[in-house]
Amino acid sequence: MKIAVIGTGYVGLVSGCCFAEWGHEVVCVDKNAEKISGLRQGRLPIYEPGLDELLERNAAAGRLSFTCDVAEAVKDAAAVFIAVGTPPRPGHGDADLSFVYMAAKEIAPLLADNAVVVVKSTVPVGTGDAVEKIIVTERGRGTFSVASNPEFLREGVAIRDFLEPDRVVIGVVDERAREVLTTIYGEPLAKTNSPIVVTERRTSELIKYAANAFLATKITFINELADLCEQVGSDVEELALGVGLDKRIGASFLNAGPGYGGSCFPKDTLALLRTAQDHGVALRIVEEAVSVNDARKRKMALKVMDAVGGDIDGLTVAVFGLTFKPDTDDMREAPSVPLIETLQRFGAVMRAHDPIGMKNAAQMLENVEFFEDPYECARDADAIVIVTEWDSIQRLDLVRLRRMMRSPNLVDLRGVFKAGRAEAAGFHFSAVGRPTTR
Ligand code: NAD
Repeated sequence: MKIAVIGTGYVGLVSGCCFAEWGHEVVCVDKNAEKISGLRQGRLPIYEPGLDELLERNAAAGRLSFTCDVAEAVKDAAAVFIAVGTPPRPGHGDADLSFVYMAAKEIAPLLADNAVVVVKSTVPVGTGDAVEKIIVTERGRGTFSVASNPEFLREGVAIRDFLEPDRVVIGVVDERAREVLTTIYGEPLAKTNSPIVVTERRTSELIKYAANAFLATKITFINELADLCEQVGSDVEELALGVGLDKRIGASFLNAGPGYGGSCFPKDTLALLRTAQDHGVALRIVEEAVSVNDARKRKMALKVMDAVGGDIDGLTVAVFGLTFKPDTDDMREAPSVPLIETLQRFGAVMRAHDPIGMKNAAQMLENVEFFEDPYECARDADAIVIVTEWDSIQRLDLVRLRRMMRSPNLVDLRGVFKAGRAEAAGFHFSAVGRPTTR
C-alpha cells in the first residue's frame, strides 16, 4: 500500500520508517527543506535509538523516500497520515491546530479517490470533523474518508512502542477508513498480539488525551506521596513497589521525580482542560495535577538550596541530565529548565552535562556552561543535581566525582543512586521521597 506521512518530527518519522519496515511504500513529506535534504542523505533530524538503522534499511530497499513536494507524496496514496505538531497556543493552553488545518488544506485537492486521511497528531475531540469540512470545501464531498489514529509512542523507545504497541486506537466514521487502517496495522500486529481498538472518531480523539491525563495524574500522585515520605521517614521507592505490584494499580509511572515534562503531558493536559471548559465540564483532578506539577518544578530548586545549606548565591551547581527523559534529545518542557532558571535567580552559577541534549538545551538556556565530560562539569562544584536518569549518568564513578568537587552535595531527583553508595563515596545525599542524610 502507498502511504504518505505529513510531518517528519518524532511521530511522523518513526511512523514512516515503521510503516516501511512493515513493507509499505512510504513517502514522508516536510515543509522543512533542511530536514528533508538531511533525511535523503540518511541524516536524522532527531535522536531516537535505532531509527538510523530503520531509515537506512528501508530507504535502501526503495520503500521509504522523503520530499518537500506534498503532491508527490500524496499522489496515489491509499492513506495520508497527518503527523504535524499541535503545540499549545501561547497564553491559552488549547492546542494550536493551524498546522493540522494547513496540512488538510494542502492535501485536499491532491488526494486519490477513496484515500483515507488519518489524523495521527494529538488533536482535540471534533478536529476530525473540522478536517473533513476543510477537505469537503476544497474538493467536494464523498471520495475520501477522515479517520483518527492517535499515537502513543514514547520518545527513547519509540520504535518498539510503534512496532509492538500496547494497543492501536483507530477512530472511524465509515467502512472504507476501517478497512484501510485495519489492513495497515492488522497483519503486523497479529504477530505481536497487540489489540486494535476501533471506535467512533470522536472517542478515539479523546482516548489520547484521557490516557495522557491519567498518566500525568499518576506521576503527580506519586510525587506528592514522595513529599510525604520525606516528612515521615518513609522511602517512596519501596512504597511504589508495594503499591504498584497490585495489578489494579500497576508498577509503571510510579517513579517519583522532579515533575512530568516533555512535549506531550504538559500540553495535552492543558488542552484537555480547555476542551472540558468549552463544554462546561470540570475535570478537577486533572486541574490539580497540572497546578501541582507546575509548582513542583520550581520546588525542586528549593530542594537544591536546602542541600547547600540555604543560600546558593555565588555557589556552583552542576546539573546532570537536561532532556525531559533519557534517550531523547527533546528539551520541550524539560524540568531541568525551570530548575536551572530558578537557581540562577537565586544567584547560583550553573553548569550542565547531558550526553545528547546539550545542543537543544543551549538554545533555551542562558549563562549555563556546558560540559561533554561529566567529571569536568563537577570540578569545583558545590552541588550536583541529577535531573535525567541517562544510563551513562547512572554509571558515573561517585568517588571520582566527589574528588572533583568543592562541596560534596549530591541531589538525586530521579532515584538513580542509593543513599548508602552516595554516602560511602563521601557525599551529603538528598533524594526525592527519601529521608535526607545530612
Ligand atoms: P514535531 O514538532 O517534532 O514535528 C512536526 C513536523 O511537522 C515538523 O518537522 C514540521 O516541519 C512538520 N510540518 C508542520 N506543518 C507541516 C506541513 N503542512 N507539511 C509538512 N510538514 C509539516 O512534532 P512531534 O513531536 O512529532 O508531534 C507530532 C504530533 O504527535 C503532535 O500532535 C504530538 O502531540 C503528537 N505526539 C507526539 C509524541 C512525541 O513523543 N513527540 C507522542 C505521541 C503523540
